[in-house]
Amino acid sequence: MKIAVIGAGYVGATTSVIFAKNGHKVTVIDKDQEKIKQFNQSILPFYEEGVEELLKEFILDAKISFTSNLEESIEPCDLIFITVGTPSLENGEADLTYVEEVAREIGRLINDYKVIVTKSTVPIGTGDKLKGIILNELSKRKLEISFDLVSNPEFLREGKALHDALYPERVVIGTDSEKAQKIMEELYKEVDSKIIFTTVKNAEMIKYASNAFLATKISFINELARLCDQIGVNVNQVAKGMGMDSRIGPHFLQAGIGYGGSCFPKDIKALLTLAAENQNPMHILQAVSYVNQTQAEWFMEKVSQVFGTLSGRHIAILGLTFKPQTDDIREASSLKIIEFLLKNQASITAYDPKGAEHVKKLFPNINYASTPLDALKGADALLIVTEWNEIINIDWQSAINLVSQPFVFDGRNTLDPFKMLKLGYRYFGVGNTNFE
Ligand code: NAD
Repeated sequence: MKIAVIGAGYVGATTSVIFAKNGHKVTVIDKDQEKIKQFNQSILPFYEEGVEELLKEFILDAKISFTSNLEESIEPCDLIFITVGTPSLENGEADLTYVEEVAREIGRLINDYKVIVTKSTVPIGTGDKLKGIILNELSKRKLEISFDLVSNPEFLREGKALHDALYPERVVIGTDSEKAQKIMEELYKEVDSKIIFTTVKNAEMIKYASNAFLATKISFINELARLCDQIGVNVNQVAKGMGMDSRIGPHFLQAGIGYGGSCFPKDIKALLTLAAENQNPMHILQAVSYVNQTQAEWFMEKVSQVFGTLSGRHIAILGLTFKPQTDDIREASSLKIIEFLLKNQASITAYDPKGAEHVKKLFPNINYASTPLDALKGADALLIVTEWNEIINIDWQSAINLVSQPFVFDGRNTLDPFKMLKLGYRYFGVGNTNFE
């Protein structure tokens, strides 16, 4: 099939590569010409393991192409995917400017039947809204062209995007059209995965509900960790014991300093706003958001208490991205931690294998190290913020000779406390995992 994908971000680029891999001919359109230039030189403008290699291969084979010209790209396509961003507005609502802009363009340009698929995460009811926008543009052109609007939310995880796009655990397709359903079945026939067909609105809600539920698990264990810290219970052991119950499951029960990224925080805000607009406030989700907003600060208060004051202390921040294996720093806990440390007059050296350049633009006046060991030199405390392998696997035995004081604050409960203690460190984790 011929597919146009509008929006060449993490989702658009990764799904396009998979469509090309499955034998389709893909044109990726983005209004950011600089980005398109990079793609055309086979450079992936962000870090996602394995994607650039496939991109190179498919560009060479002419299975995938990149352009800023929507007009030329849409006409020959059977399917049009919308994968533009839906960031948060000031009031928490999802900003639909980009999605609506694309719908208007589609309405202005299509000349025959298309299946128009929303992959961007959009509030419930957006499908109907976009249909209305397209119909309005078509009526301005005095044309009656049939099209179907499908919701096909994306569940890939940054850092594992290629794997998730290749082997999705489930594919959700929302449509009320048999014709569109057949075309979507054909599109996904290569994918070995469960497919659920439902309405557009249900599909839109499945995406929000999934992210909200995962965030709830994280905030649940994080809030529990605060209590565990106070009453002498090891939250890691509790999570292990809980996770063995198949009704609960072990995933997303790792206590830490909170979730970040481009999805959970904004999707939770959008769902909360939608609920409030419908006079149906979601109390559990409000608490989830509150716990997350305060988790990094709670951890930093622990760090402060150990030192009495952070003023003049030299702190090494290990990891800046919101999770390992990505260069994405959107809503990363590291940003809150840097602000906290600067407010408390600490000096900072930060290290991250992929995200440092992005953080530098926000905090140009802190120090950046090019290796983890460089970051540790002369540090009074080390903060583990992102569990990159390069960080977990530091030669901790040698590293102790570089630091000024052997304090390790593990914001991801990722190191072995016993090992660290044996090596001479004073280890502080999240939820009474401390060994001093
Ligand atoms: P992104 O910000 O990385 O990329 C969006 C792209 O859309 C940008 O390159 C931008 O230039 C382009 N764009 C905006 N308006 C355009 C227009 N009118 N025409 C052409 N291009 C335009 O976004 P992302 O992280 O890929 O996310 C896209 C959507 O997918 C969001 O709704 C997000 O919530 C959802 N999602 C993201 C992830 C993830 O892990 N990043 C996972 C699942 C779902």
